[in-house]
Amino acid sequence: MRTITVLGATGSIGQNTLDVIARHPDKYRVFAITGHANLEELARLAVQCSPRYIVLSDPQAYSAFSALLSKTNCHSEVLVGAQALDDVCSAPEVDTVMSAIVGAAGLLPTLAAVRAGKRVLLANKESLVMSGELFMNAVIEHKAELLPIDSEHNAIFQCLPHDFQYGNLAHSGIAKILLTGSGGPFRILPNESFDAITPDQACAHPNWTMGRKISVDSASMMNKGLEFIEAKWLFGLHENDIEVVLHPQSTIHSMVQYVDGSVIAQMGNPDMRTPIAYGLSFPERISSGVDSLDFSSLADFSFSKPEPSRYPNLYLAMQACEEGQAATTAINAANEVAVEAFLQGQIKFTDIAKVNEQVLQQSDLIELTSIVQVLEHDAEARSLAQQLVRKLN
Ligand code: NAD
Ligand code: MG
Repeated sequence: MRTITVLGATGSIGQNTLDVIARHPDKYRVFAITGHANLEELARLAVQCSPRYIVLSDPQAYSAFSALLSKTNCHSEVLVGAQALDDVCSAPEVDTVMSAIVGAAGLLPTLAAVRAGKRVLLANKESLVMSGELFMNAVIEHKAELLPIDSEHNAIFQCLPHDFQYGNLAHSGIAKILLTGSGGPFRILPNESFDAITPDQACAHPNWTMGRKISVDSASMMNKGLEFIEAKWLFGLHENDIEVVLHPQSTIHSMVQYVDGSVIAQMGNPDMRTPIAYGLSFPERISSGVDSLDFSSLADFSFSKPEPSRYPNLYLAMQACEEGQAATTAINAANEVAVEAFLQGQIKFTDIAKVNEQVLQQSDLIELTSIVQVLEHDAEARSLAQQLVRKLN
């Protein structure tokens, strides 16, 4: 029996995680779920999975949430605040933590799980983008088991040989990691129409149903840029080891190319319950509720290179990856501010790349040797991005 904390339970990944868990009551029990704003959904999930604890990251939500919960038959204990988030990740009863809070807010609780040596199912890519080397050092130091949930990284993980040594592609005869991406909803939109893109259009991904921030990132391909950085840290890669390939059908979730010419791909319907189930059950396999691929209905299977003029954010993130930790922390923070401003109708879709580029240019490339420094650098980049947003507004 595995005992699990689900950070960000009310989100798209969180709900998919609870869906897979509910299919296997003999294997998994929920210790804690956490949520931020969607209190009705959090109460509904609590009734469904009866966790020991429910954590509200926003302490001000306590009375409204308690009133909601009192109308149910759920007797979970309600905790609030940042320390409670850390505590339900590091509690001795817990062996697995699903890290599915969106954005930089996910870093500290995920690190708490890492430092407590848990199995960490990493959906929150932003925490690795912000603090890559420090995060991976903590994984090694505390003997945590880090398993990628992002579909591409989960696919790469599945295509790597069992004797893969972190950062040593030659040892396993690997030539390249092929990171696939669909190109999002605007892959064939004329470039001159990009200024008029609305938040709802950007959030309507052709293949995946996801939270709004990652949906906008997928439309701008910043998501692939963040994933490029994530892959570097997860597998110990050099920038030249990774190639981004457009694959609009999202059937292949990423590939590993070997020196003998073989390419191993992981395929499946675009449904996050597959990587979630693999993370929960690794090294075994469990059913996830995802339909099998129907090859007779796969009409098309195409691949191309992402155009820099269409996807400037992808190339900015790859540039930041080469520049190092301070640059990736800064662009991640800038992007969070810019995407939120776009979703609030304050800036245009095309302004997201302008904010990201300027923050990247203006941020100091200092060495970040502690998480405190990472958070300070994140805060500086956020305030710079907010100034730029005000100018563009
Ligand atoms: P979502 O917006 O649907 O859910 C986000 C969750 O984070 C919610 O539970 C919300 O309550 C919580 N949250 C938001 N702000 C918070 C804060 N300040 N403090 C604490 N909790 C907060 O997002 P999602 O699509 O589920 O994505 C979650 C993470 O997983 C992201 O990092 C995303 O990049 C990653 N991811 C998502 C998918 C996907 O298919 N949705 C795929 C790969 C990776
Ligand atoms: Mg992904």
